[in-house]
Amino acid sequence: MANSNPEIKYTQIFINNEFVNAVSGKTFPTINPSTGKKIADIAEGDKADVDLAVKAAKAAFDRKSTWRQMDATARAKLLYKLAELMERDLHYLASLESLDNGKPYMNAVYEVYGSVYSLRYSAGWADKISGETVPSDGPHLTYTRKEPVGVVGQIIPWNYPMLMLSWKWGPALAMGCTIVMKPAEQTPLTALYLCSLAKEAGFPPGVINMVPGYGPTAGNAITVHPDIRKIAFTGSVEVGKIIMAGAAGTLKKVSLELGGKSPLVICDDVDVDEAAKIAYAGVFENMGQCCVAATRTFVQEGIYDAFVKKATELAQSRKVGCPFSQDTQHGPQVDETQFKKILGYIEIGKKEGAKLETGGGQVGTEGYFIQPTVFSNVTDEMTIAKEEIFGPVQSIIKFKTLDEVIERANSTQFGLAAGIVTKNIDNALVFSNAVEAGTVWVNTYLAGAAQAPFGGYKQSGIGREMGREGMELYLETKTVSIKLPSKV
Ligand code: ADP
Repeated sequence: MANSNPEIKYTQIFINNEFVNAVSGKTFPTINPSTGKKIADIAEGDKADVDLAVKAAKAAFDRKSTWRQMDATARAKLLYKLAELMERDLHYLASLESLDNGKPYMNAVYEVYGSVYSLRYSAGWADKISGETVPSDGPHLTYTRKEPVGVVGQIIPWNYPMLMLSWKWGPALAMGCTIVMKPAEQTPLTALYLCSLAKEAGFPPGVINMVPGYGPTAGNAITVHPDIRKIAFTGSVEVGKIIMAGAAGTLKKVSLELGGKSPLVICDDVDVDEAAKIAYAGVFENMGQCCVAATRTFVQEGIYDAFVKKATELAQSRKVGCPFSQDTQHGPQVDETQFKKILGYIEIGKKEGAKLETGGGQVGTEGYFIQPTVFSNVTDEMTIAKEEIFGPVQSIIKFKTLDEVIERANSTQFGLAAGIVTKNIDNALVFSNAVEAGTVWVNTYLAGAAQAPFGGYKQSGIGREMGREGMELYLETKTVSIKLPSKV
């Protein structure tokens, strides 16, 4: 069960199935966001460590290596085994994540389940991707092969550390790539433990390598390394742009899952209480640290006041506290930087004239807890309606007609997700077709499936993870033509 003091077993860099110190010998602290105190010192990877990790991953991808010679069904079996080991260690993994990330324990448990589910989904694809025979001109047999891209660099964020890891490990491994990953500096612990499980599952040395460290150092070394063929990144728009530019030097393939400022439209034909609950979950889940968070809540004028009242009550009822307490729904923000940034946005909201209905401040004096916050009378031009806050802040904005709200919903550089709550099927369909977003939810929010592609329009990203498209990210297509003696 939940253990607020789990043993920290792994703190070093993982290369070639071994845990090793950084070449420089340096370490960095990982902090408990509930207290602001250090949990452990982690080996701080940099270019020299990335070079070693890439060397290992490259050797593991050699034509004659165990990994390349392995049947696709055997690769799938390793992934299934890893998923099984994660279930075995469910409570340990969830405890470790609650400690390092601050998310409530039960949310961490769901994250383990979600990660296991997505690994199993990817495993199923391992032996189901095939090329095709092509009716080419001339006396030729022409066919395509789907081949793994090679060594891939994967850089992940801290908000869903295990889920983001499995969304990247699963497809890459199922398709036969080898990996050099960097976890977020805020949350390295579960990633390192999962490496030990991968070793236990039987993945050959060098197939999975993990280099904890900072973005501009270890992250950049991965981005520019000439032997890495593809980068998969989840994180901020700002860093996504840096990565795309850095990857250009070696023309790596790039997939980016970036931020958002997702609109959720509440029409006046719905039950206000039900709609407010959908919006509440959409914005406060994971302390608002969710790339798809419904941070622009558009409410039709007829129900606006009633909605604001209900939204305020829901935010006030949210139980903020220690991630390990059973009744906690809301833990701390991940670190001091995020904490300060969010409080800064709340001050800007107040200054620019939004009405603070509830929240707005710190909870307690220790750690990075922020009150669930609701602003009403928010207008499209306000900073809190335009920029990604990544915290527990709901902005409730009034609208009159569907046509108008579609224009306003699309009037942003982001396009990750969107939602509509309505009883009118025509409105639901028109909105779903017209909104510029990679994911649209109708009468729900945050419903996720490993089978469904996920990613963003516009500056919210490039490419789709999971689903069949998520597998394609890790594949090259090769066309082979063979001369035949005659056409028939
Ligand atoms: P967030 O805003 O969610 O913290 P970031 O985009 O800052 O997201 O970080 C996501 C991941 O990107 C982290 O693993 C971080 O270390 C890494 N990162 C940050 N800066 C860079 C960079 N310049 N190059 C490569 N990776 C980076």
